[in-house]
Amino acid sequence: MTTTAQSQAPITQERLIRTAIPGPQSQAMHARRAEVIPPGVGAALPVYIAAAHESIVVDIDGNQFIDFASGIGVTTIGHTDDAVVAAVAEQAALFTHTCFTVTPYEGYVRVAELLAQHTPGTHAKRTMLCNSGAEAVENAVKIARKYTGKNAIGVLDHAYHGRTNMTMAMNFKNSPYATGFGSLGTSVFRAPNSYPYQDGLSGEEAAERTIWYFEKQVGAADLAAIFAEPIQGEGGFMVPADGYLTLLQEWCHKNNVVFVADEVQSGMARSGTYFASEGLGLVPDLMTVAKGIAGGMPLAGVVGRADIMDAAHPGGLGGTFGGNPVSCAASVAVFDQIERLNLLGEAKRVENTLTAGLTALQKKYPLIGEVRGRGAMIAIELVIPGTKKPDAAAVKHVVDHGFQNGLLLLNAGTNYNVLRFLPNVRMTDELINDAMSVLDDAFASYTK
Ligand SMILES: *Cc1c(COP(=O)(O)O)cnc(C)c1O
Repeated sequence: MTTTAQSQAPITQERLIRTAIPGPQSQAMHARRAEVIPPGVGAALPVYIAAAHESIVVDIDGNQFIDFASGIGVTTIGHTDDAVVAAVAEQAALFTHTCFTVTPYEGYVRVAELLAQHTPGTHAKRTMLCNSGAEAVENAVKIARKYTGKNAIGVLDHAYHGRTNMTMAMNFKNSPYATGFGSLGTSVFRAPNSYPYQDGLSGEEAAERTIWYFEKQVGAADLAAIFAEPIQGEGGFMVPADGYLTLLQEWCHKNNVVFVADEVQSGMARSGTYFASEGLGLVPDLMTVAKGIAGGMPLAGVVGRADIMDAAHPGGLGGTFGGNPVSCAASVAVFDQIERLNLLGEAKRVENTLTAGLTALQKKYPLIGEVRGRGAMIAIELVIPGTKKPDAAAVKHVVDHGFQNGLLLLNAGTNYNVLRFLPNVRMTDELINDAMSVLDDAFASYTK
């Protein structure tokens, strides 16, 4: 464990660059890491973190970054939220593990109640908890297959569902997620999604195209489920055209196909509603949740229609750590904070400030092809001006410029030409506007 003087001091909410990035201590740590950790486990920016609070992460050299990554959309209510920290400490002192399928405890039940309450639809629901988004997707596949008695799984272009064996077959991109890792999970069929900026299709046209692909490639008689991210995450925050997912779900219902919304990235207050499905007027049959649901503690789940969830036989679902009591306590605290601090409203404020700043930059820099997204889930797609052709080099330039100047930014998109912003929903307008000035410099130095 490395502790630094900086990690003990209160963290000011500001960017602060004290050394080269990465600094000397991070460089030394990175050399240690290379001796024991394989390169397959990547690092977007190899600065090693000492502490974090609200919107700022501090590295072991004392540099401070405004966090637009949130650990890939996980610390949605901000780093080291008081209520989450207290809940974790309290539960850790009571017990850290019994295994819910050996001797259960209330926290798991409470999380299931809260998910039933805050996911779309008033029908009877059930929840099973697990450890990661990919594991939730894997479980949703099992449950949909058991319920329908069918095998095939439908996914969409540009989708991302995880890095386990089944989910790497469900991702759009083979590289880097599956290259060389052997035979993939079987019976996965892929169809074009709705991508209004690039395809120009209405929701109806896009749904017709998607359904045509599924009907021809596999057919409803063999299709157990369609998985769709309501707003695609790694794919680049594409908000589907109006009505697209509703039409897809209607087709599913006519054909005994389970409609699964993968809300791992778009869920839990991030989009300005509890789940992005709600904002799109959807009531999914099943939803997969993870990332932001437990304030940074590992927790994931499948939540959905009781009749579907109940199809799995006793003992068919579960795992040693699934629904860990400390993670559940953190999750209950996150739900409380969303209500207490009006964090759905805060996500909309972040959307307004971020969208206004990015739209102003778009007027200045024509390589910003589109500003899109919902809530604290906003992206810009960078293109060769006058075309819609991807400019991945521009994204790389802006991300690197951000790193050097105290912004943690992530790319996205099949072509790596999307810059995504995943701030916590409480990030102040002041910090967002400060970041916009860094981005302005980044674009100015690229265009030159
Ligand atoms: C991150 C993500 C996953 C995988 O979650 P892990 O916790 O990394 O396994 C699945 N689906 C979506 C939409 C994601 O963004």
